[in-house]
Amino acid sequence: MPALKTLGTLCVLMLVFAHNEARRASLRANHMVQHAPHIEPQASVIGGRPTPEAYNSLRDIFFRYEESKTLGADITLTQKELQANQLIMEAKTREYEEGLATPHLFTPSQHLFEVLDDIKQSPLFKYISSMPKGAVLHAHDTALCSTDFLIRLTYRDNLWVCQGKGDKEVIGMRFSKTKPDVATQADCTWELLSKVRELHGADKVDTYLREHLTLYPTVKFLDNNEAWEQFGSIFALLDGLLFYAPSWADYYYNALKEFHADGVQYLEFRSTLPILYDLEGTSFTELDTVRIYKETLDKYMAEHIDFIGSKLIYAPIRNTDKEGLDNYIKVCVEIKEKYPDFVAGFDLVGQEEKGRPLKDFIPQLLGMPENIDFYFHAGETNWFGSTVDENLIDAVLLGTKRIGHGFALVKHPLVLQMLKERNIAIEVNPISNQVLQLVADYRNHPCAYFFADNYPVVISSDDPSFWKATPLSHDFYIAFLGIASAHSDMRLLKKLALNSINYSSLSPEQKRVALAKWQIKWDDFIDEVLSGNYDNNGSNNAAQHRLNTNKII
Ligand SMILES: [Zn+2]
Repeated sequence: MPALKTLGTLCVLMLVFAHNEARRASLRANHMVQHAPHIEPQASVIGGRPTPEAYNSLRDIFFRYEESKTLGADITLTQKELQANQLIMEAKTREYEEGLATPHLFTPSQHLFEVLDDIKQSPLFKYISSMPKGAVLHAHDTALCSTDFLIRLTYRDNLWVCQGKGDKEVIGMRFSKTKPDVATQADCTWELLSKVRELHGADKVDTYLREHLTLYPTVKFLDNNEAWEQFGSIFALLDGLLFYAPSWADYYYNALKEFHADGVQYLEFRSTLPILYDLEGTSFTELDTVRIYKETLDKYMAEHIDFIGSKLIYAPIRNTDKEGLDNYIKVCVEIKEKYPDFVAGFDLVGQEEKGRPLKDFIPQLLGMPENIDFYFHAGETNWFGSTVDENLIDAVLLGTKRIGHGFALVKHPLVLQMLKERNIAIEVNPISNQVLQLVADYRNHPCAYFFADNYPVVISSDDPSFWKATPLSHDFYIAFLGIASAHSDMRLLKKLALNSINYSSLSPEQKRVALAKWQIKWDDFIDEVLSGNYDNNGSNNAAQHRLNTNKII
């Protein structure tokens, strides 16, 4: 019976693959190359053509095998979850099929700036928006809040703007009782913002600021460098507004509030720890910056018992020298000593291409105290073989707990293998990757491979403020509809939420509490989906309310 023989051969093949994989997983890194998987010659020769029935059986086995390897396959849904899953999958399938019929309208095939509002109307997005998504583990502290909140901040007293000589472009902002005398990068004149509003009209000024505090409307930069330059100019504009000590605390408090409202119960953020200032000329240090964070978090936690918490990863700019890094390390040790639980670890940030690669600092990084964990950005590039690409290797060898972005990981099979062995999570930020021009169409995002082969992935949002996205829902929606398989269902969503807690820097006991808090929200979510509060299109009043409240302080 050739067909049965073929079926048997394929089953054997799969067993061989599975066996090889288990074997590979047990090998040490230095043995990996020698023990690379070897497919036997007879494996590629399948004798005779099967009957259609046998072929269908084989195909079925093939699918089940692939499915068993995807992220979330180990999740077993309860009866109630299965019912909710059906509704969510109806919404997903509808959008997917509409996409197949009219590919140019499929939202994940387009630039986010062109579909941001359309996505908010999506029934699937409304489910995802309501869903408790666990944690955000990759986000930068001055790119968290909505533009509306930033505009509110600009209405505070004593805010000055520095306008360029000819074009009157706003180059900087600063709170001050009198005309600031701080140096700016360009030649400009300081004016009270309230006066500028009087002169040009508040609406006009606000529209101008809104445009300059995000990357809108440019969907196509000349290249990745130009996108990063624009990125840098927003950070520079925000500095004087946010580094004002009272703004700093309020910005963080509001970020927690907006993330919480978007179904995020825990936030692990990166900070460069800027030196703050106030109207009295007080001298602040990095420790003060952390202190203000911690005090603000304590206040938020006291008022929101369902919130899990927040921790800080000290992540100064990578464009530095050895002396600069020594100073970073000194600060890191100091803040870790003073706030051991709040400070999660260390990273280096900024455009990887323009900064220094990890390999430049190996002895110093290896010399850091063992209680400071690493969470390195690495491989946020399309340049295969570049130093940025190779940061992935150093990140893993240095013992990073997670990899920020890891966009280039598919080009490094050995690094990928080590991620599984060492249980290192990949922090995937889909929208950020598109805006910074690493990928145009989300269906081509390398995370599809991470999903298909069960890599430890968490979905995050990086800098949602700069693209007017919700704190996490837009990235989740893109990952679920545009990157994952059409077959991926609630098991993937649930797994991603659980991963975000399990791969956080929370201690085992903190994770236990966190999972309990998340589970309560999750059960409510399932009830809500099944309650019929959603109409046939998946729209839900609570979700809509949450979307709207994201816009205000
Ligand atoms: Zn980042």
